[in-house]
Amino acid sequence: MRAFFDIDTQIDFLYAGGALYGPGGENLIEPVRRLNAHAVSAGIPLISSVCSHPENAAEFRVWPPHCIAGTVGQQKPASLLAAKRIIVPNILSNIDLRGYEQILLEKDDLDLFTNPNLIDVLHQLEINDCVVYGAFTEYCVKCAVSGLLKTGRKVSLVTDAIAALNGAQGDEVIEHFVAAGGHLVTMQDVL
Ligand SMILES: [Zn+2]
Repeated sequence: MRAFFDIDTQIDFLYAGGALYGPGGENLIEPVRRLNAHAVSAGIPLISSVCSHPENAAEFRVWPPHCIAGTVGQQKPASLLAAKRIIVPNILSNIDLRGYEQILLEKDDLDLFTNPNLIDVLHQLEINDCVVYGAFTEYCVKCAVSGLLKTGRKVSLVTDAIAALNGAQGDEVIEHFVAAGGHLVTMQDVL
């Protein structure tokens, strides 16, 4: 089963007033909206990772505080949300994903694999073909594609639906991804 992975497209990252805004982040909203809408209409599972930090998160020793649970900045733009969605919290939980269009996978780290429920999500939905997009290329997107590749699944990165904080570092991530067996695709290929 193919699944779409929408990485960290949250208000704090995408809008100029956001706590950890990446220049040009707003340009991601329309491509991600189209991809997410396609997933919903085609019945493709949509896994949206989201930073959800406590006020004293370990990440804030390195990064400015962002995506604090309960704040507007932690939310996703409304246009990126499906009607039937479920939050998968960052603690081991018994979750039945049947009937949901979008899975909001919370994390308190760059790496979505730190959510202890992710492996169960991948199994429940029988995911073997991962299409990844979102922000930012050299941080959370990198963790997502490398982690998914390590599980032995097919992984494709949508090159016109990602954003890097640093273009050169983003390009380096893409090179390493291809060398590790990842596939590069465009929106046209997956829509
Ligand atoms: Zn974060």
